Amino acid sequence: MSLPDGVERREFDGRERLVTRGDPVYGEPTDGPWRVWDAGRSKVGAMLELGVDTGLEGGDSVLYLGAASGTTVSHVADVCGPTYAVEFAPRPARDLVDVAADRTNLFPLLKDARRPETYAHVVELGLDTLVQDVATRGQARVAVRNRQFLRPDGRLLAAIKARSEDVTATPAQVFEDVLDHLRDAYEILETTRLDRYHDDHLAVVARPRPDTTD
Ligand code: SAM
Repeated sequence: MSLPDGVERREFDGRERLVTRGDPVYGEPTDGPWRVWDAGRSKVGAMLELGVDTGLEGGDSVLYLGAASGTTVSHVADVCGPTYAVEFAPRPARDLVDVAADRTNLFPLLKDARRPETYAHVVELGLDTLVQDVATRGQARVAVRNRQFLRPDGRLLAAIKARSEDVTATPAQVFEDVLDHLRDAYEILETTRLDRYHDDHLAVVARPRPDTTD
């Protein structure tokens, strides 16, 4: 699995770490223009550390759902092209706007990812990648509703948090239910547990199924 262009491995304090070039955002270690992409703070970072084939190449166009204060989406924007970042909570969205001030390709949207019709007039169609990390009940439904923005061979990269769906079911059962729902609109390409970095999270890589409507 190759890393996207713009993501490298460099030694920090005797350890190989993933890095991107950009202004620091969350107190991560830096060395000149390089900033550590902390897999413990970022599910996409964890996917890359664990060798998940994300399909990210560098320069991709991205819709990112659940951007919070911009920890992960800032790294994504460091290496990608236009990056639309949706977050519905006003407090983290304020920080996200600050993060975007230094990044001309990062577009923060204070919107609810369950209602893509409210940002469809802003976000371009035919995107390469849909990243989702919303950590709320109904994670599969959100991914299905936002499939419309992806190009036919685009990629969904979803971090599914078991406890957000059902605290009483086992994570394995929750993941099966979420994958079943995702299969309505996506072909699942790869799944990887992220527990080494994020407890009870599943990474899902999928591509849109051609024969479905949103
Ligand atoms: N992806 C972030 C990162 O790595 O930097 C962390 C995201 S945090 C786990 C989940 C975020 O999703 C929260 O900031 C929450 O407010 C946001 N969120 C949850 N449901 C949402 C929705 N329906 N629309 C937009 N944002 C949502």
